[in-house]
Amino acid sequence: MFNALVLEQHEKQTLAKITSLDDDLLPDGNVTVNVDFSSLNYKDGLAITGKGKIVRQFPMVPGIDFAGTVADSQHPDYQRGDKVVLTGWGVGESHWGGMAEKARVNGDWLVPLPEGLTAQQAMMVGTAGFTAMLCVQALVDGGVKPEDGSVLVTGASGGVGSVAVTLLHALGYRVSAVTGRLEANQAWLKQLGADDVLPRESFSAPGRPLDKQQWAGAIDTVGSQMLANVLSQIQYGGTVAACGLAGGFDLPATVMPFILRNVRLQGVDSVSCPKAQRQAAWQSLTKLLPASYFEQACHTIALVQTPAYADKIIGGEIKGRVVIDIA
Ligand code: NDP
Repeated sequence: MFNALVLEQHEKQTLAKITSLDDDLLPDGNVTVNVDFSSLNYKDGLAITGKGKIVRQFPMVPGIDFAGTVADSQHPDYQRGDKVVLTGWGVGESHWGGMAEKARVNGDWLVPLPEGLTAQQAMMVGTAGFTAMLCVQALVDGGVKPEDGSVLVTGASGGVGSVAVTLLHALGYRVSAVTGRLEANQAWLKQLGADDVLPRESFSAPGRPLDKQQWAGAIDTVGSQMLANVLSQIQYGGTVAACGLAGGFDLPATVMPFILRNVRLQGVDSVSCPKAQRQAAWQSLTKLLPASYFEQACHTIALVQTPAYADKIIGGEIKGRVVIDIA
């Protein structure tokens, strides 16, 4: 038997409850993992509260990422006792996820726990931090260099945003962080590495198709009007990495930044990211994140607290990353 957070649906309402389950109920897969830590991402918040169509079938164990120890393996790359990490691949959406003492998955979805990180630290990074690294890489691949000017990060107090600020600073970029919680989080964002912190309101109203060129690049976790306004302020030849929709999934933009300023809009997906790119991203994260990040930007909760925190993440009330201690 093992304990899991289980989502059920009754009369179109999603209900979340900690339940003791028999091992026989674990889904198909060739690796069984004793989960040590999971984490809370925006997508988990949407799944647990039912506010987004994330879960494909019920009952579902949520948790789009986890770190743990292999209990049993029929996969050639993994043996009992190996430390592993999983993010994405539809886990916690269409396949039972990490908010449980045990998970059974396809071994191809796992990566070895990167050397230099504990399981808890790997989940302090989690899907959000991993995605932030993919966004930073997208800017580098787009040719954005520290000497080109400032890089803007939207939704900066959130999981993706806070890791993006930390990573960009570590790579020598000048970072401008956008937040809706200026007063509460300004000092903290500067500690993480932001050079300046800007209020969300200055990007909220519909702007001009082409505005003053201010940013060499941007990482956007918000979408909608925010992304449209960011695009209109990108310098000639700059790149925007777009990964999120915390402000909405629409994009009320024009083609002007693309056709007159050679701006590149690079989408970033972490779920189906190929294995080689995954491992490279984890290696970069291990190298770049300072020890202070784990102390300043993360806190740990118990599984039983997760539904309450799911409401908070959807309400935009979480600062940094939330790790779930499962073991
Ligand atoms: P968080 O909730 O931790 O962070 C989102 C942040 O966005 C908030 O902290 C807040 O920051 C800001 N925000 C919230 N609501 C609004 C709003 N209505 N308008 C403007 N800003 C808002 O979420 P995550 O960091 O986990 O995820 C961020 C986004 O990235 C989500 O949309 C998520 O789905 C997406 N994502 C995508 C992935 C991919 O593979 N493409 C992977 C991981 C995440 P502040 O208070 O500082 O303004």
